[in-house]
Amino acid sequence: MKPYSLPDERGHFGPYGGSFVSETLVHALNELRAAYSKYREDPEFQREYAYELKHFVGRPSPIYHARRWSEKLGGAQIWFKREDLNHTGAHKINNCIGQALLARRMGKPRVIAETGAGQHGVATATVAARYGLECVVYMGSEDVRRQASNVYRMKLLGATVVPVDSGSRTLKDALNEAMRDWVTNVENTFYIIGTVAGPHPYPAMVRDFQAIIGQECIEQVPLETGRQPDFVVAAVGGGSNAMGIFHPYIDYQDVKLIGVEAAGEGLSSERHAASLNAGSVGVLHGNRTYVLQDENGQVCETHSVSAGLDYPGVGPEHAWLKDSQRAQYVGITDSEALQAFHDCCHTEGIMPALESSHAIAHAVKLAPTLPKDKVILVSLSGRGDKDMHTVAEFSGIKL
Ligand SMILES: *Cc1c(COP(=O)(O)O)cnc(C)c1O
Repeated sequence: MKPYSLPDERGHFGPYGGSFVSETLVHALNELRAAYSKYREDPEFQREYAYELKHFVGRPSPIYHARRWSEKLGGAQIWFKREDLNHTGAHKINNCIGQALLARRMGKPRVIAETGAGQHGVATATVAARYGLECVVYMGSEDVRRQASNVYRMKLLGATVVPVDSGSRTLKDALNEAMRDWVTNVENTFYIIGTVAGPHPYPAMVRDFQAIIGQECIEQVPLETGRQPDFVVAAVGGGSNAMGIFHPYIDYQDVKLIGVEAAGEGLSSERHAASLNAGSVGVLHGNRTYVLQDENGQVCETHSVSAGLDYPGVGPEHAWLKDSQRAQYVGITDSEALQAFHDCCHTEGIMPALESSHAIAHAVKLAPTLPKDKVILVSLSGRGDKDMHTVAEFSGIKL
């Protein structure tokens, strides 16, 4: 069997991916592709990346046996990959460091990003402060209002937050503004994309920076359990924590990969964010993938209790893994995720992000159907402190 080596040199994962952008961005993307292919092989770049992950992020993150919960469920053993223990509380920082180091080497003193829930904005503002880069974050004005504490966090870190008043005033409008900024300021500006989406080379580059998650697991799981896991389960918004933990396992045919999408109020409700389960093929954010769109190709409004999963598309590599059946994609509803959040707090003393709670909820469904010697590895992509207000609101409690 040929080892897995996608994308091809034009950024295709089978029929997905590629680069659908205006002509004004072609030069910038060519420049980025050239820089990335140079530095990904550069030992000095890799050394600095590894150093930063260790000393700034606190890697490697441990794996953790959810022993009490596994015993209660009476089936397979559930293990967490603890990305929640990273500096800034989630996996997003891994990728932001990689792109910031690249920006510096490319001589770009200014970075821009777009953010919905604000988590990618915070991670970008963090690395900009760390490396002395100017930072501008675009955010829909509706999101600015909803995510006030993340907006303040970005400002404390020295970033400029630009509220976007067009369209529905949310993520997709912020994305358009960030693109516009990049076209205008391409000489001195690096666009830090927060997930495995965007035009080539972003989906592959972000995956490579996040693959540290799975690379550590490949070493850690056999040390603790004597074997590789039987299942790897991760929440999928754009898909970066999932691609990061899946990618090193793709050639391990016995390891089943399961991505968990936000089914919101149910897959048949139209109030969800499950592009792979309920979307159709289209073009979004410069690549071909599964998209939640109406019959005229207009991108739909999405819903999830978890702001970080509330995205109308998905990285093109997931589209390919779905069609090729190397990975399976399921949905978890808001109420199932909230139940998993509360149970995880009570049973393990860990408050997971609501995004991660989707993955945990699926693992908790799966475990009792399996023998006790099976291992389910769950990507605990982030910590849940940021979600306390949302959880309280759903419980009818005012903080
Ligand atoms: C942003 C986020 C996600 C979703 O993004 P992916 O690119 O799909 O990983 C998941 N978990 C946490 C904690 C996040 O902050």
